[in-house]
Amino acid sequence: MGTVWFVGAGPGDPELITVKGRNLIARAGAILYAGSLVSEAAMRWAPADCQIADSKDMTLDRITAWLIAQAREHETVVRLQTGDPTLYGALIEMVQPLDAAGIEVGVVPGVSSALASAAAAVESLTLPEVTQTVIFTRIAGRTPMPPGESLEELARHRCTLCLFLSITLLHRLQTALLAAGWPQEAPVLVVHKASWPGEEKIVRGTLADIRQRCREARITSQAMIIVSPALGARHWPGLAKSRLYDAGFTHRFRRASEPRNRERETP
Ligand code: SAH
Repeated sequence: MGTVWFVGAGPGDPELITVKGRNLIARAGAILYAGSLVSEAAMRWAPADCQIADSKDMTLDRITAWLIAQAREHETVVRLQTGDPTLYGALIEMVQPLDAAGIEVGVVPGVSSALASAAAAVESLTLPEVTQTVIFTRIAGRTPMPPGESLEELARHRCTLCLFLSITLLHRLQTALLAAGWPQEAPVLVVHKASWPGEEKIVRGTLADIRQRCREARITSQAMIIVSPALGARHWPGLAKSRLYDAGFTHRFRRASEPRNRERETP
């Protein structure tokens, strides 16, 4: 019996898979990938005789049946998932039937689209003295949110919010954030197909106009929404510097060389 590896393929650019993920593809006897979400370019590393299937039209039952059947034939079976497999990827639903069938399972992390979207826009999700917290969430659609996790409640923290699976629900973003006390002019970033060569679109706006801007850019799917008090900081004139690089800050790898001096310019 082989092992089924859930491998994070990354957000789209085939170069953003990990070395470990690529090595597993290179020795896979069978690969099941999520078509249109995972770049087919990743299959170029697969052995010539590898069984490759697209899960696009498969139900969860068929996916697990396929993985179990392949694990009985091959030592290495890869389930390629978009971004990171532990985020909105039905990982546990697939792992439970494999456990029941006595098949070994491994998970290889991937670059999540939340991180690729911040990278595409040259934004930092955390910024000293502005926000030190990131929430990965979604807006309630057909999938209800558990108690305490409504967007309005989460937005009260005024930290960075990365919203998956929510691009068709932008009207709810505006309502929830305004109710949580964010201003209409709060900046919002939307990245469509982050890192996909030639397909990425970056749209910037405010709570008031982001819906209109996305409509103009014809973005209706595969998009990350980021709202954060740190958006746009690249252009701020006065910025509190991270203590990590402060000459007066001693940490594990460096001794403080100067007395602490953390004057902050106010913008
Ligand atoms: N496990 C994935 C998320 C899967 S849920 C990850 O870690 O990224 C699918 C949602 O992820 C989409 O609705 C969209 O919000 C986001 N997404 C996936 N790929 C994306 C990309 N390349 N650019 C922007 N958003 C993306």
